[in-house]
Amino acid sequence: MSKSNDELFKNVISHAKEYGFVFPSSEIYDGLSAVYDYGQFGAELKNNIKTYWWKSMVQMHENIVGIDSAIFMHPKIWKASGHVDGFNDPMIDNKDSKKRYRADQLLEDKIAKYEKDGKTAKAESLQSAMDEALKNEDLPKLKDLIVEHEVVCPVSGTRNWTDVRQFNLMFSTQFGAMAEGSDEVYLRPETAQGIFVNFLNVQKTGRMKIPFGIAQIGKAFRNEVIARQFILRMREFEQMEMQFFVRPGEEMKWYAYWKEARLKWHLALGTATEKYRYHDHTKLAHYANAAVDIEFEFPFGFKEVEGIHSRTDFDLSQHQEFSGKKMQYFDPELNADGKPYGNYIPYVIETSIGLDRMFLLTLVNSFEEQELSEGDKTDSRTVLRLHPCLAPVKAAVLPLTKKDGLPEKAKEIMDRLKLDHNLIYEEKDSIGKRYRRQDAIGTPFCITVDHQTLEDNTVTIRHRDSMEQERVPASELERIIGDLVSWKNLLGS
Ligand code: ATP
Repeated sequence: MSKSNDELFKNVISHAKEYGFVFPSSEIYDGLSAVYDYGQFGAELKNNIKTYWWKSMVQMHENIVGIDSAIFMHPKIWKASGHVDGFNDPMIDNKDSKKRYRADQLLEDKIAKYEKDGKTAKAESLQSAMDEALKNEDLPKLKDLIVEHEVVCPVSGTRNWTDVRQFNLMFSTQFGAMAEGSDEVYLRPETAQGIFVNFLNVQKTGRMKIPFGIAQIGKAFRNEVIARQFILRMREFEQMEMQFFVRPGEEMKWYAYWKEARLKWHLALGTATEKYRYHDHTKLAHYANAAVDIEFEFPFGFKEVEGIHSRTDFDLSQHQEFSGKKMQYFDPELNADGKPYGNYIPYVIETSIGLDRMFLLTLVNSFEEQELSEGDKTDSRTVLRLHPCLAPVKAAVLPLTKKDGLPEKAKEIMDRLKLDHNLIYEEKDSIGKRYRRQDAIGTPFCITVDHQTLEDNTVTIRHRDSMEQERVPASELERIIGDLVSWKNLLGS
């Protein structure tokens, strides 16, 4: 990370805390590693991101419905899905510092260092040796590479390493009432399995016809070995996932559709196209026949925000086998030969986005420290240029002064508008300071009540981005603000 990017990211993190977006969890007890709490504006921003996703995925698609499945699930589900046996990271400990690292990430850092030093050939050969070792789950080979390339512990500076071991990322806990002594359950590491096990329930009760999708938003838990970069990689986080069930053989068409549709969803927020890129997977998970990441350029480089995976019929087939229940769909439509497609296990295209990663993307992308000058006066402000649909507060209602009946008038306006929107009322400090505070939390509009309001019932609306003001009739505010923050502006394009 270059110095300016490093500084920018640090500023974003401290801004997020200072303005009530994100706090370290259990802070008064010195925090809990890789767990975070969302504050008063963070919770609103997060809800708005969820709403944007839910509206565009569920409400805008007649053939997609949403569910909310439990975090606790039968432990066999994780056996069937492959998580018990295969959801591992290769890890290694440094014997001097007692610090634990992901072996592949130590090697990635080494590769980045080779690249930085212009040692391209070395970087490439290490990359391919590491890829091969990861593919074959060859743990001794990973250790050999760490030794051979003289990787040192960033803390102790030594090369005194343990062997590489697999570390399962699932959290487990005890479940009181389970029979047969097998009372260990897992906190789900993804929301997708809650969708798969409800496939038949939803298909039958919703009379869904293929192709159709099931979406859900919910918590997931992963005991990440290395948690870094703020809320990019957390141990408790939220996912927004959709499984789209299709006919076998038609999955590539739908994969292409969702790959494009999901990037469009991101770009509709007004983010510059060059901030995004696709990363097509060449090494595929055993259950996938195509996979792509949508990556965003964070200050510390391009990172995955969302994955689109063609998961074949792997999950439903596994659940059919492990539960002994048929997971088939009867397709009455006629194929090219004039015969019904009949019974089959559908194929699945998954779109999976991390809500917290989308939150971080939104913060980073909207954060600006702007220099302002007027004549020979210079000033600066920190502004979050959030899309009005995502802004935690849609408008602030501000009486110019605390007297002359202005607060009463402002409160009257506030009481009317708060029925539809999340608003803030503020009368403390100068109007300039109040505008700056709203800029810092991304409030797109400030409604100012001044002495003229008492005469002609007009107010000013100050626009966050241009800082320009316009005078409008107070009676028109519901319509004006309603239009400015309408979801139509985002979903209608
Ligand atoms: P990564 O390679 O970054 O660990 P992944 O490939 O394991 O991610 P998926 O299992 O495909 O991720 O999960 C889908 C999405 O969930 C990711 O694109 C990411 O946005 C989010 N996600 C995954 N792990 C975490 C985490 N530990 N903290 C926050 N978000 C996460």
